[in-house]
Amino acid sequence: MHTVYLSLGTNLGNKEQNLLTAIKEIARRIGSVKAQSAFIATEPWGFDSPNTFLNAAICVETALSPMALLRETQQIERDMGRTQKSTVNSQRSTPTYHDRIIDIDILLYDDLHITTPTLTIPHPLMYERDFVLIPLKEILT
Ligand code: AMP
Repeated sequence: MHTVYLSLGTNLGNKEQNLLTAIKEIARRIGSVKAQSAFIATEPWGFDSPNTFLNAAICVETALSPMALLRETQQIERDMGRTQKSTVNSQRSTPTYHDRIIDIDILLYDDLHITTPTLTIPHPLMYERDFVLIPLKEILT
């Protein structure tokens, strides 16, 4: 079994319900949810939007490999109605962000460090983002 920490965010629709639905789907498809942070309201990061975010972090025990985990989190995002991914603008190295029903990022996977074209763990931007670090600190053991 592997211990993973995931960051969840939403800024569209019924945000509390979106987080609860995502956590329920993660428990069903990925593994047992060992810890869940409080939900915190935050301002959009990296783009302008009138829609504030609700964020949380969870700890999950899973048998999935890192790539299988990414496939499942992305499938949950799609099933919940997310259509637009962040896109990398050729002029800028930072992605362009959009409003989203749900975003699930893989923060940590055991003590693994990997860099592939589609998956980097630990998540490369996690240390810059209070909306990730505050919930993560609450549940990190
Ligand atoms: P998003 O911010 O959800 O739009 O994700 C953009 C892309 O980041 C995805 O297509 C993933 O392939 C990639 N990615 C790289 N590292 C990670 C990670 N640790 N967790 C989630 N997505 C990641």
